[in-house]
Amino acid sequence: APGIVIVGAGQAGVQAAEALRAGGYEGSITLLGDEPHGPYHRPPLSKAWLAGEMDAAQLVMRAPEMLARKGIELRTGLTVQRIDRDAKTLQLADGSALPYTGLVLATGATPRALPLTGGHAAGVLPLRSRADASAIAERMAVCIEQDLPIVVIGGGFIGLEVAATARKKGARVTVLEAAPRLLGRVLAPVLSDWYASLHRSHGVQLMLNAQVAGIEADANGVSGVKLTDGSVLPAGLVVVGIGVVANDQLARDAGLACDRGIVVDACGRTSDPAIVAAGDCTARRLADGSLLRLESVQNATEQGKSAAAALLGQDRPFNATPWFWSDQYDRKLQMAGLSTGADAWAVRGDMAGGSFSVYHFQGDRLLAVDSVNAAKDHLQARKLLDAGVSPTPWQAGDVSFDLGGLLK
Ligand code: FAD
Repeated sequence: APGIVIVGAGQAGVQAAEALRAGGYEGSITLLGDEPHGPYHRPPLSKAWLAGEMDAAQLVMRAPEMLARKGIELRTGLTVQRIDRDAKTLQLADGSALPYTGLVLATGATPRALPLTGGHAAGVLPLRSRADASAIAERMAVCIEQDLPIVVIGGGFIGLEVAATARKKGARVTVLEAAPRLLGRVLAPVLSDWYASLHRSHGVQLMLNAQVAGIEADANGVSGVKLTDGSVLPAGLVVVGIGVVANDQLARDAGLACDRGIVVDACGRTSDPAIVAAGDCTARRLADGSLLRLESVQNATEQGKSAAAALLGQDRPFNATPWFWSDQYDRKLQMAGLSTGADAWAVRGDMAGGSFSVYHFQGDRLLAVDSVNAAKDHLQARKLLDAGVSPTPWQAGDVSFDLGGLLK
């Protein structure tokens, strides 16, 4: 039998491959990736790795030998171009065909490109891959040496982490955010304001409500960012962090149900019983019929395991509380739950001291908790949310109240 093929050798693909073996699958497993490297960790690309505090070896997620020992065949530098579902065969970019009995799509996501004139000038760079991070690091070093400013477009997690890293390295940094506050779709207003102060206190020039009109370039590539008010911010490097688009083209071409991502159920199943999908490329159908897109290590890991189980004929729904983290300067943000729809907030701890948590409520139901340098609150929040237990906003905001007691 041809065996199981996994398209995409990232977080979700590796998890799926290992979960298949752990689940007792004895057929062949092929892990295909279009990048030149074997599986590596993406989160450090905007953090420790970009800061030069981590070497290439530490970035490796699984060494190829380790995969080989588990009987997982890793093939890198190879793009899957087409899925023929009737023949259960993949068309590869090298002209060969690869049959499958089961297929895992774990193709990730692609950064949204700047839809403006000059958006493709040299030195206007996205951040998704190791190659992207190397290009940014190289240009950042030149900017620091020549005292050229760096402009970050987009005050989301990636943009803010790059800004923090660039400041740490001594670069001049401006962050442009189109919305009136940072991370407006995920953070409570108090926390957006707190992050704005944090970045300003570290010397970032932060511009909110900033509308970019275009990129100016000369023979060396990007030279500035033009705003809609006509002003131009000089720049030797522009990092674009304005979100990602799910890589669902292969699936769409093959006629699988897609809606801003490959539509999967809680067990990672697509509309074809022989094909499952996991990670950033998916949109998960929830019980109420809505679609949830998550871009996180946890989501890729858990969906990877669920997708493997589904191919082995088992239900392993992933419905647990979502969590995420972000490192900026010496502050670790840890988020649990989804705050969409929150209408009330309580702060626990000391915002000025930089160690606290923000509890999001809808009515009296706890939706999510964002903790800054408060790992204990975060772990407890995951337990509260998993158990469906809500403190009152008053209890959440009172450090003398034992929230853990609610779980007993
Ligand atoms: P990916 O890791 O993107 O892997 C998909 C792979 O498939 C890629 O290598 C891609 O090139 C390949 N591929 C695509 N199409 C094809 C094809 N047709 N043929 C062959 N190969 C193909 N998450 C957190 O939880 N916390 C963080 O702090 C955090 N920080 C991040 C910082 C950065 C800079 C970035 C970029 C991401 C960060 N994330 C973070 C998000 C997290 O890394 C992703 O959610 C996770 O990597 C998704 O895993 P994945 O396997 O779905 O996709």
